[in-house]
Amino acid sequence: MSRSDYQDTGCTGVLCVSEVLLEVRNLCTYFYTVKGIVRAVDDVSFSLRRGEVLGLAGESGCGKSTTAYSIIRLVPPPGRIVKGEIFFEGRDILRMSSEEFRTKIRWKKISMIFQGAMNALNPVYKIGDQIAEVLVLHENLTKREAYEKARELLKTVGIDPSRINSYPHELSGGMKQRVMIAMALALNPPLVIADEPTTALDVVVQAQIMNLLKRLQREHGTSIILITHDLSLIAEIANKVAIMYAGKIVELGYSEQIYYNPYHPYTKGLLASIPRIRGEISKLEWIPGVPPDLRNPPPGCRFHPRCKYRFDLCSREEPPMVEVEREHYVACWLYAKK
Ligand code: SF4
Repeated sequence: MSRSDYQDTGCTGVLCVSEVLLEVRNLCTYFYTVKGIVRAVDDVSFSLRRGEVLGLAGESGCGKSTTAYSIIRLVPPPGRIVKGEIFFEGRDILRMSSEEFRTKIRWKKISMIFQGAMNALNPVYKIGDQIAEVLVLHENLTKREAYEKARELLKTVGIDPSRINSYPHELSGGMKQRVMIAMALALNPPLVIADEPTTALDVVVQAQIMNLLKRLQREHGTSIILITHDLSLIAEIANKVAIMYAGKIVELGYSEQIYYNPYHPYTKGLLASIPRIRGEISKLEWIPGVPPDLRNPPPGCRFHPRCKYRFDLCSREEPPMVEVEREHYVACWLYAKK
C-alpha cells in the first residue's frame, strides 16, 4: 500500500472505502518462553480501508489472534511486539504511550470481540450494568444516560431491550455473544476486530451473528477484521482476505481473487478442503502434515515440508511477496523471480 492511497478519495456505493484506516507494516510479535522464542507473527504487513472487511484465515496457531492482540495492544506476556509499525488513521499507535492508547484508541477507535467472548461476561452482574460500565468510564455518561444507550445497543444487536436486567446465565449462547458485540460497538468504533465470533455456536446462531456483522458494516460503515479458520464464513462478508501460515501472510487479495483465482499452494489446499453443495461432486482434499513449531520454523518457505510443488529453492530462501494481479499478493517461489 503506497502513501498515495491516503490521498485517494474515490468512493464506491454509499460507503467511501478508499481511505486507509489501518496499515500494519512488518509486524513481528514473539513469545519469549522458557523453551525458546515462538515467532507467532513474523513480518506481517497489510492494510485496511475505511468500510472494508478483511478476513484473516489460516489453521490454528498460525498467528491470526496474535496479530489482532498486537493491533489492540493486548499481547499477553511473555509475548512482545518486537518490530514493526501499526498506523491507525495515519498515526503509529505502537509509538503512543499506554495511557494515550487506552484512553484514545482502545474501545473508542478499535474494539474487539474476543474468542469465546460469551464466557467473558461477569456472571454476577446484569448485562445492562456491564454495557453501561463501558459508557460511564469512556464517555462520561451518567448512569441513566448509559442505561438508555445500553437499551439502544441491545436493540441494534437484536435483543429485546427489556432483557437489560438479565444475568448472563439467563441468556442463550448466541444472545451472550450479541451482548459482547453490543459492548464492542458501545463507543461506535471505526474498527472492530472479531476473533472467531461464532465459535461454539450452532449454525443458525452463527448465521444470525454473521448477518448482524454484515448489517453493522453496511449501516455504520464499520471496518471489520474477521478472524477465523473457516473460509466459508469469510466468503459471506469479507471484501479482502489474508491467508496466514506459520506466522506469515502467504496470500492477500480481494475475496473474488482469493476464492476464484488462488495462487498459493496453501490457499489452494484450504479451498479444496471446503465441502461444496453446488456444482460437480468432487473428492475433498486435505493438506498433509501439520503446521511447524514456531520456535524453530523450517528455513526458506515455511510451507515447504507440506507443499507438493516444492523445489530446491523453496527450502533455501524465503519467497518475497509479489503482486500477481492488481492488489493480489502472493509469497511463493512459483511466481517470484529469483
Ligand atoms: Fe510450495 Fe515453494 Fe511455493 Fe513454498 S515457495 S508454497 S514450497 S512452491
